[in-house]
Amino acid sequence: MPIPSIIAIDGPAASGKSTLGRRLADSLSYLFFDTGVMYRAVTWGALQRGLQIKDETEVTNLAETAQIDIRPASKEDGRACDVLLDGVDITWETRRPDVEANVSPVSAYRGVRQALASQQRRIGLRGKVVMVGRDIGTVVLPEADLKIYLDASAEERARRRYAEILQRGGQADYGQILAGVRSRDEIDSTRAFSPLRAAGDAIVLDSDKLNADEVFSKVEALCR
Ligand code: C5P
Repeated sequence: MPIPSIIAIDGPAASGKSTLGRRLADSLSYLFFDTGVMYRAVTWGALQRGLQIKDETEVTNLAETAQIDIRPASKEDGRACDVLLDGVDITWETRRPDVEANVSPVSAYRGVRQALASQQRRIGLRGKVVMVGRDIGTVVLPEADLKIYLDASAEERARRRYAEILQRGGQADYGQILAGVRSRDEIDSTRAFSPLRAAGDAIVLDSDKLNADEVFSKVEALCR
């Protein structure tokens, strides 16, 4: 069987999708594309411009017109890639708590999803890609050759996010992170347009029971 060319990895926040996706892309020499950064970039842009997040028309208009670029990392400061919005490097701004708090409502707008998903699809169809998100296997690239849905309990995901922040030298409150993870899960999985769910033909892995190395080994074995 040939190595799958289009690999979709979906799952809830902090389930380990990016760690897995990046490692897999490196091992196969494929492009790694984390679609969450696009939703984060639009959210940051909306906050920066002082738009009301509730204003669907304005936020959608921004998603349709903003120039989002994802480029190879230009600095060794822990970033996976550079994220640019209209030419400005906003890589770390997209990780801010106010972006985290507003990204799920922004991502629930149909027009925002259409604008971003069509760009993602165009890039994904070139192949040799590992694309990570919430709706890659269901909506963006339903023809993907391999679909993984990576799940974990909210507690375990919050614990990982908390450790990540402390490791970067930041401060965090576990309870607040857990509440944020639950709130994003709720909005992402109940929204009307392309909600978070496993595709019928996805392989579901529970990373509560597997560490990052075990998840990677399983998926690599599926590829080869
Ligand atoms: O994966 P990450 O946590 O960076 O994603 C941020 C948010 O972007 C998610 O909580 C979700 O609301 C949205 N998202 C999405 N569809 C994707 C990727 C991310 O709705 N394909």
